[in-house]
Amino acid sequence: MRFDIITVLPGLLESPFAHSILQRAQKKGIAEIHVHNLRDYSTHKQKSVDDYPYGGGGGMVMNIEPFAACIDQLKSEREYDEVIFMSPDGVTLNQQIANQLSIKENIIILCGHYKGIDQRIRDIYVTREMSIGDYVLSGGELPAAVLVDAVVRLIPGVLSDETSALSDSFQGDLLDAPLYTRPADWNGHKVPDVLLSGNAAEIEKWRFEQALERTRTRRPDLLK
Ligand code: SAH
Repeated sequence: MRFDIITVLPGLLESPFAHSILQRAQKKGIAEIHVHNLRDYSTHKQKSVDDYPYGGGGGMVMNIEPFAACIDQLKSEREYDEVIFMSPDGVTLNQQIANQLSIKENIIILCGHYKGIDQRIRDIYVTREMSIGDYVLSGGELPAAVLVDAVVRLIPGVLSDETSALSDSFQGDLLDAPLYTRPADWNGHKVPDVLLSGNAAEIEKWRFEQALERTRTRRPDLLK
């Protein structure tokens, strides 16, 4: 799977992809993440990529030309399944959408900045608009990193133990069960006996009941 992320701040995206699972996915050749500096596609002397909004008002608006030039260049090299614009007014990302995206091959992600991007970019190029929640961040880079992380960890071969992702919260209709590791007794705070019993069926039953209870108290909406 290949991601091409278009941003005015490529530096913001270096660290999230250089560690842990996202780094391993790239090393294994399962995911490719390419970050493109929007300014490289600006034809202005100052490499500017934004301008004042028509109609007035505060905040700058990102120009269509650099985005168009970068997207057209990428599209001339390969076919893309999606051009996703990260935007607070988009569809809120959830596990189901992450699952859907994880079987795609090539995805372009556009990161906005300042007040936002020229509406014509959204009208002409964008196939999906995704939000990571009902709050406003200063740029689309962190949302893009969140989206890529949520998707890449679902690609077969990325996690060392695939069954781990299947029991994660939201993968089914249940939240994940409580987790424990050594020591079995920490200052009198003990791990539930069943987890030490070695009885796989009992452990599975306990985990299911715990997950159900957790979902009932924290997210009854998931149980419908
Ligand atoms: N004026 C816009 C907000 C602009 S914030 C509005 O009111 O909707 C600048 C950029 O940050 C956006 O273009 C978007 O790319 C990104 N961004 C901010 N909050 C986001 C969120 N919750 N989810 C996804 N992207 C977000």
